[in-house]
Amino acid sequence: MLPDNPGLRAYPFLYGLIGYPLGHSFSQTYFNEKFVREGRAGHYYQPFPLEAVSLFPELIKAYPNLRGLNVTIPYKEQVIPYLDSLGEEVAHIGAVNVIRCLEGKCIGYNSDIHGFERDLVEFLGGQRQEIEAALVLGIGGAAKAVIYVLKKMDIPYQTVSRTAGKSDLLFEDLDAGHIRRSQLIINTTPLGMAPALDTLPKIPYEHITKAHFLYDLVYNPSTTLFMEMGLRRGARVQNGLGMLYKQALKAWEIWNPPIG
Ligand code: NAP
Repeated sequence: MLPDNPGLRAYPFLYGLIGYPLGHSFSQTYFNEKFVREGRAGHYYQPFPLEAVSLFPELIKAYPNLRGLNVTIPYKEQVIPYLDSLGEEVAHIGAVNVIRCLEGKCIGYNSDIHGFERDLVEFLGGQRQEIEAALVLGIGGAAKAVIYVLKKMDIPYQTVSRTAGKSDLLFEDLDAGHIRRSQLIINTTPLGMAPALDTLPKIPYEHITKAHFLYDLVYNPSTTLFMEMGLRRGARVQNGLGMLYKQALKAWEIWNPPIG
């Protein structure tokens, strides 16, 4: 059953996060600070830890003042059957991380695509043409957004995972040739994320050179061990913080599209 919180119905503009379990939430801090900074009275952002995704309709009914939701693990895919419609890119990647609630209807979007695309373009800058191919490490929810963007940017890629049959390559398959041909390497696994600071994807780092770009979707710590291994060999590195902020900004635009 959904715990009732009648006080939340007093906010004319309620936003929130669904997932389970929910620990520290970047979005809650980001949006509530934004509301205070911008003097947005009546706006509030609340985490809703849902024990089961089947509680989603109950949540929407309980809080008719909900304007928008973020979605996190494990509901990015599971929530789709509960939505009234989907943005075009969701139909391609099958993962929702933003829901717009409008007059009782729920529309699913994915702002990770936008966040990653903008941040990757910024990271590569004028060197985009130096990238012949990419390696995508991990093949979970975030990897889907990454792959969508690589296809859109015409960057050939191979996926790498620890499980046979899920990806193009296994981590143990990677050799000097794969690393040499793939100047862009993107970590979409949680390896290296706090508190597991001493973990990293198992790739042959000895073949990384200053021609490489290492992008880590992990943003805590700001320099992961994966990035550190790249830095030691002169590679350019980037963490996922820029993507995180850019996807949050996009979520706000989805909930409150510019008029006209
Ligand atoms: P997910 O759906 O659980 O996928 C995680 C992937 O990592 C899976 O392919 C999993 O492989 C692989 N993996 C996990 N542990 C591994 C290990 N020990 N060795 C090898 N592979 C391993 O998670 P997600 O939603 O894609 O998120 C992944 C990471 O991206 C998280 O750290 C998350 O915080 C970050 N992220 C950042 C942003 C941002 O804005 N910067 C946005 C989204 C996500 P199996 O399938 O074999 O388990």
